[in-house]
Amino acid sequence: MKFPFNEPENTAVITCCHITESDATILYVSHDEEDGMWQFLCGRAHSQEQARVVSLNEIFTLDATVSKLANMPCGYIAERKSKISKWKMKRKG
Ligand SMILES: [Zn+2]
Repeated sequence: MKFPFNEPENTAVITCCHITESDATILYVSHDEEDGMWQFLCGRAHSQEQARVVSLNEIFTLDATVSKLANMPCGYIAERKSKISKWKMKRKG
C-alpha cells in the first residue's frame, strides 16, 4: 500500500509504551490543532514517561488501518473500540 499521509514518512509522532512495547492496539488518534502533531495511543490514561516518539511510517507499518485517518484535519480525534471496529472521527473539545 502507498504511504497515505500528506506528511513525510519520517515525521515524528507521539505514541505510548503500550503500543511500542506491549503490542497494544491503537484505539485513539489525535491530530493536534496547535502544532499539527499526530498522536497514536492505546486509549488508556498515560503519564509523561509512557510517551514514545516514533516516525509516522512506523505507525503505518504497525497498523495500516490508520490510513483511513490520513486526511483527518488538525483539531480532530478518532476513536474505535477495537482493531476491527470502524474509526469514529470528531472535532476535539
Ligand atoms: Zn498506552
